Amino acid sequence: MRLSELSNSQTGLITRVHGRGAFRRRITEMGFIKGKNVEVIRNAPLQDPVEYRIMGYHVSLRRSEAYLVEVIPGEEYRVETAPPLTVQEEGDDGPAAGNGGRIINVALVGNPNSGKTSLFNHASGSHERTGNYSGVTIAAREASVRHNGYTIKIVDLPGTYSVSEYTPEELFVRTQILDQKPDVVINVVDASNLERNLYLTTQLMEMNVRVIIALNMYDELVRAGSVLDYTLLGRMLGIPIIPTVAVKGTGIPDLLSRTVDVFEGRDKSARPVRIGYGQTIEDSVQTLRNEIVRGIVLPSGISPRYLSIKLLENDKGAADLLRGYGYSTSLQEVAERVKGRLEKQLGEEPGTAITDARYGFIAGALAETLTGGPGHRAKGRRDPDFWLTHKIWGFPVFLLFLFIMFQTTFVAGSYPMEWIEAGVSRISLLAGSIIPAGSLHDLVVDGIIAGVGGVIVFLPNILILFFFISLMEDTGYMARVSFIMDKLMHRIGLHGKSFIPLLMGFGCNVPAIMATRTLENHKDRVMTMLISPFMSCSARLPVYVLIISAFFEKRQGLVLFSIYIAGIVLAVIVALLLKKTVFAGKDVPFVMELPPYRIPSMRSTTKHMWFNAKQYLHKMGSIILVASVIIWALSYYPRMEQGTASERLENSYIGRVGHFIEPVVQPLGFDWKLGVSLVTGLAAKEIVVSTMGVLYQGDDTDSVDEGGLSARLRGEEHTSGRLQGEKVFTPFVAYGFMLFILIYFPCVAVIAAIRKESNVRWALFSMFYTTALAWLVAFIVNQTGNLIN
Ligand code: GDP
Ligand code: MG
Repeated sequence: MRLSELSNSQTGLITRVHGRGAFRRRITEMGFIKGKNVEVIRNAPLQDPVEYRIMGYHVSLRRSEAYLVEVIPGEEYRVETAPPLTVQEEGDDGPAAGNGGRIINVALVGNPNSGKTSLFNHASGSHERTGNYSGVTIAAREASVRHNGYTIKIVDLPGTYSVSEYTPEELFVRTQILDQKPDVVINVVDASNLERNLYLTTQLMEMNVRVIIALNMYDELVRAGSVLDYTLLGRMLGIPIIPTVAVKGTGIPDLLSRTVDVFEGRDKSARPVRIGYGQTIEDSVQTLRNEIVRGIVLPSGISPRYLSIKLLENDKGAADLLRGYGYSTSLQEVAERVKGRLEKQLGEEPGTAITDARYGFIAGALAETLTGGPGHRAKGRRDPDFWLTHKIWGFPVFLLFLFIMFQTTFVAGSYPMEWIEAGVSRISLLAGSIIPAGSLHDLVVDGIIAGVGGVIVFLPNILILFFFISLMEDTGYMARVSFIMDKLMHRIGLHGKSFIPLLMGFGCNVPAIMATRTLENHKDRVMTMLISPFMSCSARLPVYVLIISAFFEKRQGLVLFSIYIAGIVLAVIVALLLKKTVFAGKDVPFVMELPPYRIPSMRSTTKHMWFNAKQYLHKMGSIILVASVIIWALSYYPRMEQGTASERLENSYIGRVGHFIEPVVQPLGFDWKLGVSLVTGLAAKEIVVSTMGVLYQGDDTDSVDEGGLSARLRGEEHTSGRLQGEKVFTPFVAYGFMLFILIYFPCVAVIAAIRKESNVRWALFSMFYTTALAWLVAFIVNQTGNLIN
């Protein structure tokens, strides 16, 4: 019987895993191996994917993939899977002793969600993002701490389930370990999910690095009523184990002290231990190892045993690495032969047998040290998932959540916004009265204060939005959202996991594009990158807020919501087109962990908000300030002595640019000032509002008038062309303008991110197709408006 045929809450015993290559590798690494029990938890609302429980944690698989796993159905099987624990002392290639220096380079390695970033933040006092789903850390971050006279340099690496070559993160982590050669690797292990977390540990044990385990989430292990003899476990693994609670900082000083001990070679429990793979595999490893040692001079620190095992696992990265050191074709042939012979002897892929053996080693070690099985999660109605991924309630709850998020952003944000607005105009008046009339006066009041002030008022909205996003990340709801969305995402050619970068896009598209690294294949990554800019980022929010409060009196939240929805609809259409054309091809497996729900700590949420606020203010202080001044200068010179303010503007450089592009934006109902705002928005979307603040100054000499920018926009009339004298903004033009802002050229930073994550071609493509699409959509909206009126 196949796993996909089991019904809800049925259990099965895995007898075989079909399929080959990457899929099989991934699924076995996640714990789907012969002899394990699986329980069906529930189906996603659209029946696909399905949530399973294996090794005490939850994971989702698509039905088509579950079909590849063969099971015997039945009640909880009790199988003794643990093969004899084969622990031997390693003789030859142990890690070299500490060099006695005063700096220790430490790398944090561990499964996604094991608490690496929390540990990193606590140890170093920094404010990296944490989140309760995989893929929050996307690049290595470094910080230093002083401890016991040493400077400990800590690198926070992305989360991985293994160090094979399945995802870019895994490769990245492996390269970091092999190339950067950290003095000590701190393996962060989630104590509430030991069996699967230790899989990575078994791989680290083979990599000839000094490892120390931070047994994190120790509080959860205790709460579940389990008892772990971690000292004994540490002795079995040859790795010192220190329990920690990273969010509270418990155990971190201990961890650092032990790190120093291990570095200095003082720690007795740190010793090389070798996992035995059984006679058959060991013979092949030995043969290969001898061949490698004979034919190649490896740099110190890279273990030939490790490489031999990797070659047997069919690991391309290992072959590439070896090639760098003179891996000849004859050696390659030997490797192929050994592998082929082994496969025949075992009757299965050597990679699978090796994974099985590692899990066997872990099961054996845990059998002797862990008592009181893994804590069960809440069941039935008390389980949040009963509601949040419910087949009927799942989607409405999610939509409601989104709606509340946007409504709150708008309504609760409007109060502090008024205060800041009042503050800005006070400062403007004050500065205006102190500085004598002249260019400097105009630069400060009309350029700097009007430009930066126009943007800073949106800080509260942005904080609220980030608050909600961080809430979703920290609780674990984000992963559920990918779970319920997978079927839909799959239909447009994407993966449930793509939904997370897309959601992050609502905050800022730059991290969203970087977060596509968690996607396991190139096609998914590029497609997600291309459509993620349609997720309206927080920088565009100021434009919407301005336009909506000026032109839409009723149902403001709903109008805002509709813009966001429009972005999503467009993303779907574009994805479908891409799927049919450029990316017609095959899928990758959907294996995703569903972490337990966690109550976010106030500390981490506020930290998250503060971090984003800081970034926003930083952007304001740099790019927006510079752009405001440039735009002001372009609109100030050449200086005309006579005429009203708006006549002077029209004659300025920027007025000329605006008029130059006017024919292009006229069919959209935009005037030249809007055209200019769009041009300046190429740098960053926040600048659109500050440009408008500078351009729509009104004709009075007092540059900051009482009604604010919205009132000035409402009064604005066309100053030239066919429509001269008519109001610029009809609701249709206003709406079309918001859509244009939503769709066109994301911003310089995003384009740079796309180029970095894929290539120049995709970056250019994304620049042009978005702008063309924006024009088309705004054109349709405006023409519809003309027809109706
Ligand atoms: P990373 O993916 O390994 O970087 O993990 P994070 O640092 O982002 O943490 C994942 C989640 O686990 C966050 O929601 C943390 O607040 C939470 N967390 C981290 N360490 C602990 C811990 O020791 N105990 C508990 N209960 N939760 C933790
Ligand atoms: Mg992290």
